[in-house]
Amino acid sequence: MTHLDYPAIRQQISMRQVLDLLAYEPTYRRGHQWRGRCLLTPHAEHPAHARCFCIHLDRKLFYCCACRRGGNHLDLWAAIHHLTLRAATLDLCQRFGIEPIPLRNMQPPKPA
Ligand SMILES: [Zn+2]
Repeated sequence: MTHLDYPAIRQQISMRQVLDLLAYEPTYRRGHQWRGRCLLTPHAEHPAHARCFCIHLDRKLFYCCACRRGGNHLDLWAAIHHLTLRAATLDLCQRFGIEPIPLRNMQPPKPA
């Protein structure tokens, strides 16, 4: 099984593209920072949690202060669809027509 170059693939896919796939509508936007309902758990239906979900478009990061889950946009796709990171990444590559980038220059395992 080829290892994927996740940092390289993260550069090819924007947070905005992933949010567009989810038809996400934030309740608050300021520059690259969005807030809105949580994409991971239904606690967002509670009015106090209407803005619990923080997204940084430029840094491609999310964090929910209600369920305390966070990560990058690939992690987000994996969490929403209950996929492994690898499966989520391959799925996104396919949707966006990106060739999954294999990891090059892998360090050989260090001798014990
Ligand atoms: Zn949450």
